[in-house]
Amino acid sequence: MKKILVTGGLGFIGSNLIKLLLRKKNKVTNIDKVTYASNFYNTKEISNSANYKFIKCDLNNKKKLKQIINRVRPNVIFNLAAETHVDRSIDGPKNFIESNIIGTFNLLEIIRTLKNKIKLIHISTDEVYGDVLKGRSREDDAYKPSSPYSASKAASDHLVHSYIRTYNIPAIITNCSNNYGPRQHPEKLIPKLIYNILNNKKLPIYGKGKNSREWIYVDDHCEALIKVSKNGKVGEFYNIGSNYNIDNLTVVKKLLLVAKKKIKIGKLVKIKFVKDRPGHDVRYAIDSSKIKNKLKWIPQINFQKGLEKTFDWYFNNQKYYSKLRKKDITRRIGIKNDK
Ligand code: NAD
Repeated sequence: MKKILVTGGLGFIGSNLIKLLLRKKNKVTNIDKVTYASNFYNTKEISNSANYKFIKCDLNNKKKLKQIINRVRPNVIFNLAAETHVDRSIDGPKNFIESNIIGTFNLLEIIRTLKNKIKLIHISTDEVYGDVLKGRSREDDAYKPSSPYSASKAASDHLVHSYIRTYNIPAIITNCSNNYGPRQHPEKLIPKLIYNILNNKKLPIYGKGKNSREWIYVDDHCEALIKVSKNGKVGEFYNIGSNYNIDNLTVVKKLLLVAKKKIKIGKLVKIKFVKDRPGHDVRYAIDSSKIKNKLKWIPQINFQKGLEKTFDWYFNNQKYYSKLRKKDITRRIGIKNDK
């Protein structure tokens, strides 16, 4: 049994990762600032497990963070705590700088001063590579972030990499494509669409819906992270993706087909094109051949199956939405004059 610290474990990927880590018989401590994006519903099933402990802590509270790390003495830290919504980063980048950059810096500084270094898996995004109109980004491609969100993630990746080189911190950086699945905040595309379908509302799509993303089911990402923590080479970057790109309009159409098979759709459920957000990247796509070849990881869940599982989860867990502030579900952020 390993002792593992997960940061940001009340959020989407962190809570799915913790479930998997517990299933694999690890002991997990979850620290989270409990922002609007967190949800205790996400850890409801595991909250009484003897191998799970939650501690409220902001990565910017360095003193408390250090006390927790000294007390828990984890073998591995998965760093997922971050501000993650691009639109919010356009409205107000400050929190992104504080949580994503300074928060990671605090974590690195604590690890740097420990006698026995702890392995750090730093979870990042494909958005750091910026627009990729053709082909797929590789691990050695230059970072070209377009939003304050992706810039803050890029900065934190650079910091981690510099601590590996300068202080020999045993860290690994992962860059994953767009995740979808259970427990994701409905400010993000797929859970928002499902919320609107379940509540007889229009389905908002930016611009003409042509922006293309590489979609990966969250459990596939979490399995990859565990594999990286066990077999990944310290100091390396690993891209994690499905190789499956589609545009947003196709996502909506596919989701509507799934929903129509399962429930009666309300009259107002129609696609509505809304003003695009500033700096909206047209396409992200990554080359994941490194993790596939070196670590023998391959995604297991194709988009159709993942979409069905995702719709079923939100349909059967509508209480999930009720635990969030309504204004965070329905509010348009990032674009001031949109009607
Ligand atoms: P999320 O927004 O659902 O969850 C983030 C969690 O971090 C929340 O529970 C929040 O309360 C917590 N948090 C925020 N600031 C904190 C701080 N200062 N201290 C402690 N906790 C804090 O995010 P997610 O989608 O689960 O993403 C997790 C990580 O994975 C992020 O680093 C993100 O950049 C990365 N990532 C996400 C995706 C995706 O598609 N969702 C893809 C690739 C990488």
